[in-house]
Amino acid sequence: MFENLSERLESAFKQLKGEGRINEINIATTVKEIRRALVDADVNYKIAKEFTDKVKDKAIGEKVITSVSPGQLMVKIVKDELAELMGGKEHEIDLSGKPTVILIAGLQGSGKTTFSGKLANFLNSKKNKKPLLVAADIYRPAAMEQLRVLAEQIKVPVHIELENRDAVAIAQNAIALAKQNGNNVVIIDTAGRLAIDEAMMTEVANIKAAVNPSEILFVVDSMTGQDAVNTAKAFNDRLDFTGVVLTKLDGDTRGGAALTIKYTVDKPIKFVSMGEKMEALDIFYPERMAQRILG
Ligand code: GDP
Repeated sequence: MFENLSERLESAFKQLKGEGRINEINIATTVKEIRRALVDADVNYKIAKEFTDKVKDKAIGEKVITSVSPGQLMVKIVKDELAELMGGKEHEIDLSGKPTVILIAGLQGSGKTTFSGKLANFLNSKKNKKPLLVAADIYRPAAMEQLRVLAEQIKVPVHIELENRDAVAIAQNAIALAKQNGNNVVIIDTAGRLAIDEAMMTEVANIKAAVNPSEILFVVDSMTGQDAVNTAKAFNDRLDFTGVVLTKLDGDTRGGAALTIKYTVDKPIKFVSMGEKMEALDIFYPERMAQRILG
């Protein structure tokens, strides 16, 4: 199913030879191929259709220049348009707080705890920051232990209160501690559930209200395809998050969730997570993702 879109477009365009200009009729097969490639890459059908309609409008009237491969030209139009739709450029995170508070939210298993560790490592090693990790998942002692192990591995301090059943208080205590100890970034790993759940949302919203974070990063498993979009919408409606983190991009997904999520909630994708190692984190480059989606 992942054949190369460029080749598919080349063959779709063969029929255009000698047509003069691109029109509604002679571009139909090409548009269909692009749409199929997007749907294959997990882009929501409706969004794929809107997108291809836009590309079609751009292409109609263009001359079919025999010296330039029309397939390649079309791939370039599509790629540029995709990258633009996914934000156009990289997005920095706001590190101006004193300390900067970053809240990490998402479903259980999405990769929150792993990402929290990676982000702390990234800020420590690449941005010269002194992060403090905070385990605010009060329901799963295993999650707290997981964060402790990661923190030890990357040599970043971690705040854990095994007996405290109040996630808001844990977050507040951690911020006070960070101020005392000179930690200029506080990364709060919150509890997730297997599905959208009112209690979980209320708890994260309460932490948000109490600590006024400068970044709320929504973590989502890119392998979950269409479900990722509904989850993103539910979290955004409730938390009005500031950015998206796409995880598990080392898997075989084409990453169409990136486009669908950006299109649906209109929030920037800030990081991509590509493995279980602490170094497997990158900032999000829209043009790389466009290339990946198109194959
Ligand atoms: P949480 O429940 O949201 O905190 O999720 P975890 O951080 O515990 O991650 C759930 C599982 O996914 C763990 O087994 C992680 O090792 C794994 N994981 C997290 N991020 C990635 C990633 O980018 N790639 C891969 N392959 N696995 C990941």
